[in-house]
Amino acid sequence: MKGQSVTEIFGTNVFNDAVMKERLPKKVYQELKKTIENGETLNPDIADTVAQAMMEWAVEKGATHYTHWFQPMTGITAEKHDAFINPTSDGKVILEFSGKELIKGEPDASSFPSGGLRATFEARGYTAWDCTSPAFVKESPNGVTLCIPTAFCSYTGEALDKKTPLLRSMEAIDKQAMRILKLFGNTTATKVTTSVGPEQEYFLVDKEKYLKRKDLIFTGRTLFGAMPPKGQEMDDHYFGIIKERIAGFMKELNEELWKLGVTAKTQHNEVAPAQHELAPIYASNNVATDHNQLVMELMKKVADRHGLACLLHEKPFAGVNGSGKHNNWSLVTDDGLNLLDPGKTPHENVQFLLVLTAILRAVDLHADLLRMSAASAGNDHRLGANEAPPAIISVFLGEQLEDVLNQLDTKGEATSSKQGEKMAVGVHTLPEFQKDATDRNRTSPFAFTGNKFEFRMLGSTASIANPNIVLNTIVADVFCEIADKLEKAEDFDLAVHDLIKEYISEHKRIVFNGNGYSDEWLAEAERRGLPNLTSTVDAIPALITEKSIKVFTKHNVFTETELRSRAEIKFENYAKTINIEALSTLDIAKKQIVPAVMKYQSQLAKDIISLKEVGVDTSVQKEILDKITAELVKLQAAIAKLAEVTEKATTLEEDIPAQARYYHDEVFAAMQAVREPADVLEMLVAKEAWPFPSYGDLLFEV
Ligand code: ADP
Ligand code: MG
Repeated sequence: MKGQSVTEIFGTNVFNDAVMKERLPKKVYQELKKTIENGETLNPDIADTVAQAMMEWAVEKGATHYTHWFQPMTGITAEKHDAFINPTSDGKVILEFSGKELIKGEPDASSFPSGGLRATFEARGYTAWDCTSPAFVKESPNGVTLCIPTAFCSYTGEALDKKTPLLRSMEAIDKQAMRILKLFGNTTATKVTTSVGPEQEYFLVDKEKYLKRKDLIFTGRTLFGAMPPKGQEMDDHYFGIIKERIAGFMKELNEELWKLGVTAKTQHNEVAPAQHELAPIYASNNVATDHNQLVMELMKKVADRHGLACLLHEKPFAGVNGSGKHNNWSLVTDDGLNLLDPGKTPHENVQFLLVLTAILRAVDLHADLLRMSAASAGNDHRLGANEAPPAIISVFLGEQLEDVLNQLDTKGEATSSKQGEKMAVGVHTLPEFQKDATDRNRTSPFAFTGNKFEFRMLGSTASIANPNIVLNTIVADVFCEIADKLEKAEDFDLAVHDLIKEYISEHKRIVFNGNGYSDEWLAEAERRGLPNLTSTVDAIPALITEKSIKVFTKHNVFTETELRSRAEIKFENYAKTINIEALSTLDIAKKQIVPAVMKYQSQLAKDIISLKEVGVDTSVQKEILDKITAELVKLQAAIAKLAEVTEKATTLEEDIPAQARYYHDEVFAAMQAVREPADVLEMLVAKEAWPFPSYGDLLFEV
């Protein structure tokens, strides 16, 4: 993009509103906009025209193929490419792309996880165009492809992806939020959208070193590795100066993202060495979800071009911070109002207080579902494992709002809002500014941050779809309950006031402004009766409780069958992940570590013999050799045990939840037992003798 400005390249690879306006006949454009903006069903008569324009645009960009781009339950995106060509009678081809091909695809999808929804003999799956997320072209050295964001469902209409339920949940919250707005006399808004800005954390390591680590290649995280002399204790990486090589990566990543219309905005070094973060400007929920997938995909691709490897795993390195995503979430009307904006005097903003307390109620009633939505084998290393944030859901409101709610709770009404003071830094030349009324809290899993909630439990690898599906649905449900009551109320103001008070007193237990990492909070949360689901296997059942089935089916987000299949996929995925980790642990320990240690051991033994011959003291060599031998014996025993339990685990396939539980309780623990002596051995043998790069090499030599 030499010589090109950001504004020139932004969105150049997107079939966005401006392109549609320019290339589509006015009538067709207006019809399409109706679908995009008002959620009306797409008129099939215009599909051919849209498809033709889309193809022409893409072909001008060099595209030869198109793909329905979808998000199956594997957590990553899937695509099957078809060329635009169509043979003609004279043995040549013409380029064609019909409305039918745009609207509907039919990938033979029997190999995608379906959780029993679709037997392999009924392999039919459909992808359907989500025209609310714009099409785009993906460039690669091997060609250009037109990507059409789609939803993916089975022959019988069950959702097989993450996008379908996300769109359903967005419709649900739109519908219920609109009922509330109408009750408050809003006549201008016609739609409420959830806006989401996901902050993405990641690690970058040197590609050559990465390729020498089978654990990173197979599992995305290190299964072995002694701590280096320096970790993150100096806090000198956070917001530190970005190294040139990394800056080069970030520059290219930004440019690639901007071309795709992704508003990559903020970048900085994170807490751990080699860890970084990227945040886009927020967008509508489904677009933000699609964009986050592109962000992750491009991070990997661009890293590769720079001789780097991007690690998106939640915990690539034991002992240093892992990676997550902060899901910034708010509710915005099409007439420009953010329902989570408290204004200057929140105590007078009744609509805001109602929305706020509704969210408190939703989060308290369905804390288990929110926790579940962020659960994965990778994220288990963070949540509830002494790292940000804890596995207990609580809400941080900040001083100002907590004070307003307190007034309402104790006095029945709120008469004031604490205001931010003038900032006094004590230096006259610095500009004066107004402090925020509330400080931030870094340890809360669900924090109010000014005009949005920040859900911080999400893992770095997972799609942001699941947490948003849950959030949208549970809030829609409380909105629905509110609207049902208020629509019947004789005295509206009084009824609103009573509801707010009722919700505060019933759900204030979920509000916690203190340190979420402390042991006192664990005890306090238990006293308050808040769930603490410390692992994925503990969290998954929340999906299929009676309460969960009720809320999801009521708002047409999931059917019971879909929920059960998703729970099964989650259990299965957990079991498979730990199985791969266990097999990788065995492979690396047996084929790399044990042979390397034995070689070193025998070298030491030879040294001792030859040193003795010349009459030299060999006590040091002997001492090290003895220590190494003792650890090697431990290692060998741990390997045998891990092999045994991993073998046993595969025989438990009849009962998938029980199998997942066994992987958690037995296999995972046995893996840890292999790692311990191996990490001790790493510190006992010479650096050159160790078969792969160390933590120090990976984290500090980028
Ligand atoms: P940080 O939390 O790192 O201090 P910010 O608060 O500035 O950063 O924003 C983080 C993310 O939140 C960004 O992606 C931003 O676009 C997004 N964001 C800001 N306002 C909203 C909003 N009203 N709704 C949803 N996301 C928002
Ligand atoms: Mg943040």
